[in-house]
Amino acid sequence: MSITTLALTAELPGLGESLTWSQLEAWAVAMREELPAAALAAALEDLQDRLIDQVCGRKWLPVRDLPAPFGCPGCGVMSDFARKGRRTRLRRFDTAAGVVHVQLANVGCRSCGRVFAPLLLLLDLSGKRRTDRLMIELAELASQMSFARAGAIAAAFGVPGSPGRAHAAVADLAPMLDGIGCADLPQAPTGADVVILDGTGMRASSRRLGVNCNIALGVTGRTGSRRRRQAGTVLLGLTLAQPWTTMADQLRGLHPPTVVVVDGEVAITALAESVWPDVPIQRCWWHLPRALRWALYADKAPHPWANAKRGELVALLRGVAREHLSHPQALAAYDAFCATVTAEGHHAAGELLAGARDQVFTCLRPEVRARLAHLGGPELGSGVLERVMRELNARTDIGGSRWSVEGLRDLITVQLARMTNHPAWTTLQQSIRPPNAIAFNITTAKFNAG
Ligand SMILES: [Zn+2]
Repeated sequence: MSITTLALTAELPGLGESLTWSQLEAWAVAMREELPAAALAAALEDLQDRLIDQVCGRKWLPVRDLPAPFGCPGCGVMSDFARKGRRTRLRRFDTAAGVVHVQLANVGCRSCGRVFAPLLLLLDLSGKRRTDRLMIELAELASQMSFARAGAIAAAFGVPGSPGRAHAAVADLAPMLDGIGCADLPQAPTGADVVILDGTGMRASSRRLGVNCNIALGVTGRTGSRRRRQAGTVLLGLTLAQPWTTMADQLRGLHPPTVVVVDGEVAITALAESVWPDVPIQRCWWHLPRALRWALYADKAPHPWANAKRGELVALLRGVAREHLSHPQALAAYDAFCATVTAEGHHAAGELLAGARDQVFTCLRPEVRARLAHLGGPELGSGVLERVMRELNARTDIGGSRWSVEGLRDLITVQLARMTNHPAWTTLQQSIRPPNAIAFNITTAKFNAG
């Protein structure tokens, strides 16, 4: 244990000497950008001084054969090092606390002659110019906003950030999130009560229509009070620019869920049926009203009326859940709604609704309902899916930019890992972003200027 003290001096004009509040606040904000890094640099140099004293003896009083808490990177011996002075150039580290400059001290190994800086060795910083925590924080920001904004926000808080660094952080972090989007999922959950399969188009590659991003999400349970239940979400599979069939391998290793939720696309239903032939299929309550709006558009239905119908269907599905309707009651309400659409002669919409009929209330069948009762209701994570898809599309659509497939895969990997608290994400957070355990005090020493 040791105490590092950092002295802060500032030349403040006196009150009444044209000193404004804004100037004081500007000074404090400027310190926010520099103080944490300065404190870190001072602490590092203190630690380094004590380490060198311990390993080589006091300055001018060298001691031979002292043991060291590190091994020589040349020959591995753990004792008998000599002071080799300080490097003239400051070593720069980009950290989550700002840019840190440290003057490194070298030692020489008396056994093999190798000269190195033990501080870097002991803190596992050899060869590092940017810390992992900075990478995670930039990547986390960049998964929620454009690279340009992520860089600017980081920079505003004294963190070394720029659009390019934010971009690089995402590219570096994604491969560390083991098991996301890979066929073998070493850290992934083994299954879920409800599995939601959904695909969305994204603007990537030179293909005019972009590429498909396919996602398998699991809903595992709910926490929170009755009124504000939260579904636990797990990421079970992710593919980009690959057909649905490639996800089959990712899903086959999981326990079959109680129900699988699909958006109505033929390829997705086919995948669900091939992987889990005995698992009942539920039509997604978020997608169905959206698909109805598109079908009515194709039918050239008047817009206000079509929007009203979409709203009516949303209300019907919510009402079914809220009022605990039985399966036949819910179907009767659905049929009555469908009749109001077909009565206007809307062909595409009628076909859509008829095609979904068998799957729209699967969750209300008594046996399914009983097995999902612990999830707190038949919404089946459609709210979860809605949130995930909205956030995903909001991020990837920024600026109408066109992505490379690799760049988009990296971004989605980071984004989904964060949103679903994927085990790989949590593990990384715990090791790289632990809570602070070092006590510190900020004290004010008062001097009477004489
Ligand atoms: Zn050596």
